[in-house]
Amino acid sequence: MLKILLLNPPHPEAKGFTREGRCTQEAGVWATQWPPVSLATTATFLENDGHQIKIIDCPAIGMNRQILKNELGRFSPDMVFWNTATPTLSHDLDLGHLIKNVSPHATTGVIGTHVTALPESALNFPGIDVVIRNEPEQTIREICFHPGSSWRKINGISYRSSDSGKIRHNSQRTFLKADSIPAPAWHLLDLSPYRLPLKGRPFLIVAPTRGCPFACSFCTASLYYGRKPRQRPVKKVVDEIENNMRQFSIFDFFIWADTFTADNNYVENFCREIKKRDLKIRWTCNSRVDTVNKKLLTEMKSAGLWMISFGLESADDAILEKSGKKINTAQSRLAVNNAHAVGLKVSGHFIFGLPGENSRSMARTLDLAMELPLDIAQFYTAAPFPGTALYAMAANRGWISRDDGCSQNQASMHLPDLTPGQVDAFTRRAYKKFYLRLKILLNLFSMLEPGALTGIGIGLKRFLGWTLHKNSG
Ligand code: SF4
Repeated sequence: MLKILLLNPPHPEAKGFTREGRCTQEAGVWATQWPPVSLATTATFLENDGHQIKIIDCPAIGMNRQILKNELGRFSPDMVFWNTATPTLSHDLDLGHLIKNVSPHATTGVIGTHVTALPESALNFPGIDVVIRNEPEQTIREICFHPGSSWRKINGISYRSSDSGKIRHNSQRTFLKADSIPAPAWHLLDLSPYRLPLKGRPFLIVAPTRGCPFACSFCTASLYYGRKPRQRPVKKVVDEIENNMRQFSIFDFFIWADTFTADNNYVENFCREIKKRDLKIRWTCNSRVDTVNKKLLTEMKSAGLWMISFGLESADDAILEKSGKKINTAQSRLAVNNAHAVGLKVSGHFIFGLPGENSRSMARTLDLAMELPLDIAQFYTAAPFPGTALYAMAANRGWISRDDGCSQNQASMHLPDLTPGQVDAFTRRAYKKFYLRLKILLNLFSMLEPGALTGIGIGLKRFLGWTLHKNSG
């Protein structure tokens, strides 16, 4: 039996921060701290194998490096694995140094889309022994089956050779079969920090499917879960929901998947199963605008869906075309209007600064956001994450000068028609113009629930702090 520590490491500026496959985000007014589903699912496998597991989600509980160091000393793990993300990369990787100082005998490994695309970026840090490429569960499990140094032969990893010091990349691992993906071991975490924004209610993530066949130029989804969609059996997914209700008294769920609504039949079966069992739950999910219609949305609402998020990205069809998103503005309008018409709250996600962007196209995107019946809008800056087509284009054309540090909260690409500063300035303007409208503010207040005040206070403080910080820059 090994002692294994699974970590979401501290944020460099002690902010809330989610690192989860293609999704990396700072906690804010709407973006909240997500329960670390990859770590908790890995923990299920490891616990079943008889290991002693500890999961620490540092940003969720406000744990800084010093406290983490003390915790490492107390637990004295044999293996430590942690999540990394492009925006916090060097800080995340440098953690290996701290871990080796406290637990020199521990094997250290990192997961995440950036290190999957560029394993060398991690292995140049001497505190990191192994990079786990793509989805982490089975690879971590096999490393733990082979302690010492025999793990070096397994698939799905990159590492430094112990004799020559050269970096080696073992073969790709086959992705997990959908029906072998277990429920996350949430019992290993204190779930109280995970709260829905504006609502304040505790929530959990349930991941029914993995994999995305689309090839949006800016997205890292395929680096984590691959391109082939894998659907977990509906019965198992709903069993997991029911168990979470019973075991943790949680009734709110974020159905997290790359392409949940891509297969309408699967979604309808999921909704039918929830209604058949008469589960009184509320849930939200992400979707693509070209995969929903009024009938499906009505069915989803009747099974407890209360909000749906669409990646609308841009109001410029030429930009959408170039991005590989394979949607157009007419589809965006139809999906948002349909969702609103059946009584769902709707969140729209937009990206400023994709290739082909200029100040006129950004203005059109903002106009679209203001015109549609959206309850929430998130405005991101295009981020050339390593491993994406956008990264290859940006690197080839000299739009970026470095691989790490880019984020969806701060532009980094020098496009032919726009500087990063112009994209950032427009993003700030978009937030102000969208949210500083009476109907939006009244709507947000109407969504508030008792118990949400603490969460809202933290969120607003972060948002205002962010806005003031940017404005003063
Ligand atoms: S549809 Fe596009 S943005 Fe959504 S998960 Fe797939 S590749 Fe990513």
